[in-house]
Amino acid sequence: MIVGEQKPLQEIKDMIAGAEKVLLLGCGTCVTICFAGGEKEVGILASALRLATRLDGKEVDIREATVQRQCEWEYVDEVADQIQEADIVVSLACGIGVQTVAERFPDVWVVPGLNTSFLGQPVEQGVWSERCAACGNCLLMYTGGICPIARCSKSLLNGPCGGSQNGKCEINPEVDCAWQLIYDRLSRLGRLDLITENMPAKDWSTSRDGGPRKIVREDLRI
Ligand code: SF4
Ligand code: SF4
Repeated sequence: MIVGEQKPLQEIKDMIAGAEKVLLLGCGTCVTICFAGGEKEVGILASALRLATRLDGKEVDIREATVQRQCEWEYVDEVADQIQEADIVVSLACGIGVQTVAERFPDVWVVPGLNTSFLGQPVEQGVWSERCAACGNCLLMYTGGICPIARCSKSLLNGPCGGSQNGKCEINPEVDCAWQLIYDRLSRLGRLDLITENMPAKDWSTSRDGGPRKIVREDLRI
């Protein structure tokens, strides 16, 4: 899932300065699961902004809406009227949602209410951890299903650096060394042969280094 967290209230307040009609637009998918931008967070942020703007002596009309998925036009179209009526839309979706609304409604000013953080996994209640960097050429088949790109601080592909100590990464003793995890898992599965394979230099052209990416499925196009 895409993991994000809400921007500080003051930053959101600064972004809406001067607007009279503000729409807080939540998303019912990933950011709801990570408690950053779902219906509940929209409600809490709306109350906080109403209070904060009132304390400043301003009357701001703060409205609320949440769509099932803000990254698809068909869902944002359901609240098209509310979006178009607003002076400003604060999107509480990931960056894709913000851009979907901006692209669909070119005359509407849309700003991000969240900081989109990473592709992660909820590892325990209230804790999300990065798991994938969307490199565009997955190699989890060689590493026991543990991603060395997202989870090794140096994105190493051929084993640990010299800084790994007691299974922890040199950047922080709280962080597991990805290559220790890979070793342990391959060992458990009886596949340590994989770790002795020399992985060639990765072709990063499928990642962000190759520019904006696009997937076209001709069989699905109409
Ligand atoms: S190898 Fe690439 S696609 Fe696969 S999990 Fe890691 S970053 Fe994601
Ligand atoms: S200690 Fe492990 S996780 Fe940290 S940078 Fe070195 S190999 Fe990567």
